Amino acid sequence: MKTLQELTRPNIWKFKPYSCARDEFKGEASVYLDANENPNNSPYNRYPDPRQSALKEKIVQIKHARATQLFLGVGSDEPIDLLYRAFCEPRLDNVVAIAPTYGMYGVCADVNDVEYRQVPLNAEFQFSAAELLARCDEHTKLIWLCSPNNPTGNNMQAEEIERILAGFDGITVIDEAYIDFSTQPSWLKKLDEYPNLVVLQTFSKAWGSAAIRLGMAFASEAIIDILNKIKYPYNISLPTQQQAIKMLENAPQVQLWIREILKERTFMQNELRKNKHFLHLYPSDANFILCKVTNANRIYAYLVSEGIIVRNRNSVTLCENCLRISIGKHEENLALLQALEKYA
Ligand SMILES: *Cc1c(COP(=O)(O)O)cnc(C)c1O
Repeated sequence: MKTLQELTRPNIWKFKPYSCARDEFKGEASVYLDANENPNNSPYNRYPDPRQSALKEKIVQIKHARATQLFLGVGSDEPIDLLYRAFCEPRLDNVVAIAPTYGMYGVCADVNDVEYRQVPLNAEFQFSAAELLARCDEHTKLIWLCSPNNPTGNNMQAEEIERILAGFDGITVIDEAYIDFSTQPSWLKKLDEYPNLVVLQTFSKAWGSAAIRLGMAFASEAIIDILNKIKYPYNISLPTQQQAIKMLENAPQVQLWIREILKERTFMQNELRKNKHFLHLYPSDANFILCKVTNANRIYAYLVSEGIIVRNRNSVTLCENCLRISIGKHEENLALLQALEKYA
């Protein structure tokens, strides 16, 4: 593995972050005249905690990590973008990713003018570590893995992930947006073993909180320090921090939702299999099912006309004539099945 200094862009390694009022004073006081806030309209008049300490404490209790290993971002989108900005020199460095996978890795590569190297998955939607590593050179800073993967829905093989972690000299990112629906354990427990591992998780899926925009990046303290240094000082709003704490206090409810969604997933797999326009259902460890159908564009348009929106993945490599269907509430799933029955 390269050292973190070798991997980090020189400007990022040496710069001094903005120091906000709430960084300089972290204790409790009765009169706050330090941040040019309006004294009225409590609690929204005050800048939120830039370190999100209370929220992080709650998260790491559940995730069995340390608060110093956790970065909180405006969705996973923010750490995805910051990883490029911290480690990839525009027009010089590159990243390697599996394909198909989540679109934001490629979008953020384009925005940051960083070369995005895609390695196609095989027919089982698995990758070969040797193939990914063969695409790396001295300018490869990041490898993007996603498990369970979007849009395919399956877990990546743990042995191949481990080979990347052991064999790549840059930073390996494993996006676990769907980990709560998966039979596989999280890679979080390997954080101490692999100092260049970044695990992404989110409040947007199992936690039912896409609207509050809260994503988590877990990594070594050294990597987390860099992300904290370059983020916007008050990136996570007070309502988001408060609502996330409320959700964490309600974790048993979230577990019930997950159980219900997994039950519905099995129900939908059994029902969709009976439809002659559904040629193949790919195995899912997520809260959606990728389905090979007779004519994805036509079925997609028909469902739109019925007021039902699924995701048409027809134009994605290896997903020709595929629809990605999220698992909804039972009555929503029934509405989809009923509409499909009428489709000729
Ligand atoms: C939905 C999803 C996310 C979540 O992104 P947020 O910005 O946290 O809402 C992240 N990664 C993958 C692969 C996803 O499918």
